[in-house]
Amino acid sequence: MADKIEKTMKNLAKNNMKPYYCETSAEALKLVKELLPKGCTVSHGGTETLKETGITELLKSGEYNYLDRSKCQSREETEKLYKQCFLADVYMTSSNAVTENGELYNVDGNSNRIACIAYGPDSIIAVVGVNKIVKDINEAVKRVKTICAPLNTRRLGISTYCGEKNECVSLFDGNNPFICDGCGSEARICCNYLISAHQRHKDRIKVIIVNENLGY
Ligand code: SF4
Repeated sequence: MADKIEKTMKNLAKNNMKPYYCETSAEALKLVKELLPKGCTVSHGGTETLKETGITELLKSGEYNYLDRSKCQSREETEKLYKQCFLADVYMTSSNAVTENGELYNVDGNSNRIACIAYGPDSIIAVVGVNKIVKDINEAVKRVKTICAPLNTRRLGISTYCGEKNECVSLFDGNNPFICDGCGSEARICCNYLISAHQRHKDRIKVIIVNENLGY
């Protein structure tokens, strides 16, 4: 695992993303405190990792201008907040997968999260457990189709093929599906696919790798 982490960090840096390593969630929380300027406007995408590491609680501490979507009372308010996130100083997220080649791979339904990762906020901080590291984009695609999507649809209480069968319908016949193959459900959560590769804006994306299994 140490070799895998080292290779991933080296290639993230090569791709103009700033890598950090933390042994524990507690260390990651401390690092995030250092990286977040007091009073900054900050928000995040849907992520279990930020909850598990205590980062969501940190954002509620009053030290920051936290755009908190849990406070939204209606779909309209939520959509308005999602758009405000484009102007945030910092946007926090995890990643569905991080490849040893130094790429982030994320798939969304609503897609507010991947939109902000791609463009808008001045700084992106991605916190990822070692369980998210995969060899390459092919493995990342498989990870989403067999782990992220089934678990996320169950978390969100959405009825999909993968939520029931633990894998995407595109894998049902054992074939090697195309990245976009999937269900035709109205509730589909795999609608837009983002690969963050070599970045033009050096160190805009920071990736904190935590030596724990976090999120999914
Ligand atoms: S395309 Fe549909 S079945 Fe496949 S992983 Fe996404 S939500 Fe699940």
